[in-house]
Amino acid sequence: MGNKKNVKRCTRRFSSRQLTRQRQLPAKSSSSVTSKIDARAAITTASSVRQSLPSKEKIEKNKKINDVPNRTRSDENLPMDGYTIIQNQILHSLMRQTKCQGCGNVWNGAMTTKKREGLFLMLCFECAAWKKVITIETSPQIVSTDRRDVNVRAQLAGHLCGIRHAGLFKLLGVLNLPSPVQDETYSRWDKQLLEFVKSTSEKSMARAVEDAVATANTTDLIVSGDGFWQTRGFQSSHGAAALLSCTTAPLVLDIETCSKTCNVCMGALSIKKSDPAKYNGIIKSHRCEKNFDKSSGTMEAAAVLNMFKRSVSKYGVYYTKYVGDSDSKTRNILTKNAPYTGNFS
Ligand SMILES: [Zn+2]
Ligand SMILES: [Zn+2]
Repeated sequence: MGNKKNVKRCTRRFSSRQLTRQRQLPAKSSSSVTSKIDARAAITTASSVRQSLPSKEKIEKNKKINDVPNRTRSDENLPMDGYTIIQNQILHSLMRQTKCQGCGNVWNGAMTTKKREGLFLMLCFECAAWKKVITIETSPQIVSTDRRDVNVRAQLAGHLCGIRHAGLFKLLGVLNLPSPVQDETYSRWDKQLLEFVKSTSEKSMARAVEDAVATANTTDLIVSGDGFWQTRGFQSSHGAAALLSCTTAPLVLDIETCSKTCNVCMGALSIKKSDPAKYNGIIKSHRCEKNFDKSSGTMEAAAVLNMFKRSVSKYGVYYTKYVGDSDSKTRNILTKNAPYTGNFS
C-alpha cells in the first residue's frame, strides 16, 4: 500500500513537471510528427490536441478567470471549445423554454441517449407532437480518429493527476457523470497516447535547447538536474532524471530513464519451461526495457552522465556547468567521467 502511494506521488511529480514545462513552448507545425505504431492517429491526435487541448497560457487565463469572484464575471464569454457541466434536468427545462421547429408549439418531449462512449453522449430530443428527433453530439470527434475530444482529455487528466482509469472511474462516479471509456479501450489508447507524448516531448525538448542556446548566445549551457524514483527507499526498479536549462523560465532539455526490470522479460518467464521455443522468440524479438543493473541509489548520477555524453550528438551543445542538489554522487561521476571540460559543481 505504501509503495502504491509512492508510485502515484512520483508519477504525478514527474508528469506535471514535464508536461507543464513542455507547454511553455510555442506550438509549431505538426507536419513532421511520426509515430511507429499509428502514424495517422498520432498526427491527427497531435494536431488536434495541440489545437484544442489547454495550453499553459489557456490554463493560466482560465485560472485568472476562476480567481475572480463569481459576481464580477457574469458577463464573461464562455470559451466555445470548452465544456460546461449541466444537469440533464436543467437541459430538459431549457428545451421546454424553446419553440419546436416542427410543430411551432413550445417544445414538449423526451430527452434520451442514443449512444454513449465514456463521457461522450449522443443526445436525442423528440417532440411529442412532431415526432421528429433532433440529435446532438456532446463532444467533437478528433479528426481521422474514432476518438472523442472529451475522452482523450479525461485520459490525459487521469495521467497528469496520477489517478488513471480506476481513479477517473471514481471521480466521474462522484460527479454523477458517465463512466470513462472501458478499461480495454483505455489501455489501447494509452499506447497511442504514449507515442504521441514521446514524440511531442522530444520536439519540445529540442526547441527548449534552441531557446537556451539563443538566450545564452552560446552552445555552452548551464544546466540543472534532478532525479526521481518510482518508489521510495532506494529500492525502486525504475528511476529517471531530467536536465533543465538555467534560464528565468527553466525548460526540460533532456530526460533519461533507468529500469532494472522489464515487464516482457518477467511475463515471459511463465512459459520458459512449458514452451521454451516461444519464450526464446519473445525474448529475441522484444525491445527490452531493462537498461540498468546497479543500485537504485546511483540511477540519478548514471542518467545525468548519459545525458551529458549525448549532448553533442543529440543537440550540438555542451553542458559546461551543472547545478545539482545535495546528492554528491552526480557531481563525482560527472567529474570523473566528464565527456568534456566543465565546472560540475
Ligand atoms: Zn413539436
Ligand atoms: Zn526485456
